[in-house]
Amino acid sequence: MENVQDRLARAAAGTRQHGKIPVGFYASGAEIALPYILVKGAQRGPCLWVNGQVHGDELNGVMAAIDFANGLRPETMSGSVVVTPTANPMALDSRRKRTPQDDQDIDQTFPGNAYGFLSDRASHALFEQIHPVANCLVSLHTMNPLFQAKPYAVYKVRQGGKVTEDHLLKCTSFFQPSVSCRMDVGGAGELPGNIAGAIDYQCLLKGIPAFMIELGKGSYIEPENVALAVNGLTRLAAFLGILPGDAPPFSEVRRVTRRSWVNCGAGGLFRSEYRGGDTVKAGTAIGIVMDLTGREQETVVLDTDCIIIGVRRDPVVHTGDRVAFVAKEWSGYTVA
Ligand SMILES: [Zn+2]
Repeated sequence: MENVQDRLARAAAGTRQHGKIPVGFYASGAEIALPYILVKGAQRGPCLWVNGQVHGDELNGVMAAIDFANGLRPETMSGSVVVTPTANPMALDSRRKRTPQDDQDIDQTFPGNAYGFLSDRASHALFEQIHPVANCLVSLHTMNPLFQAKPYAVYKVRQGGKVTEDHLLKCTSFFQPSVSCRMDVGGAGELPGNIAGAIDYQCLLKGIPAFMIELGKGSYIEPENVALAVNGLTRLAAFLGILPGDAPPFSEVRRVTRRSWVNCGAGGLFRSEYRGGDTVKAGTAIGIVMDLTGREQETVVLDTDCIIIGVRRDPVVHTGDRVAFVAKEWSGYTVA
């Protein structure tokens, strides 16, 4: 089967094409493959790669990627767009974050391994075929289904790399993020795992600007967040010169340099009136945990000034569960 690079090179100018990248087979014999949409502009230009999901239960990005690809008019474009709606069809089919066959988080396996587990093979096939043609990658995510959040951005910085933080902040600004979070690779992450195995970081290692947009809540379609992402992708494509017109950036961004989870000590039902994007002063109670007779067991208080990135809406909590995701250190950043 023709690979994506060759297919894009040979495609007629001003056309839209569909295909799939083969990965392997289920025990039943059904094929495992990664679908893609290629939109090749009438004129030459850069290539924007949009990946709809790496985590199988994160759905707003899949819809946004498809809507964006199918709304493009290739005859007006200078350059191309490659959309891969999912990097993990095994997890999508199972409505799970991780790959059921090997229990891996595929976003910790890039650039993959052609002879490894199923997740490694899928990430290898995807990365090998698409990164050589890409000039920018947007990796779409959501928070998990237990949380409410406003869309926000996360970008990694590679020390000494050729992609600058200013460039990444500008690219993320088109999505009007609640916050734009710098995530250091190498230090301890907010969650365990191999952060360097993320698709966006592997693109940065190749000198390709890449970042993540977190689009609200998982396992669910939120039409306003899908629309926001399509708008952001359209503006980014205009900034890159692929689409006509200009797209002024969203000028003020809250650049976050430290984030953390807030975990509860009590078990019961968590309640909060706060929402993603809210700024909260140190000492503020952001919610309570009550028992099943309504008696308060714990007041959850923040120890520093915070921006709430996401807050738990599934109230059922055990000791140690996450009730909020907050920014603890940030500054205003003006996008030039
Ligand atoms: Zn994710």
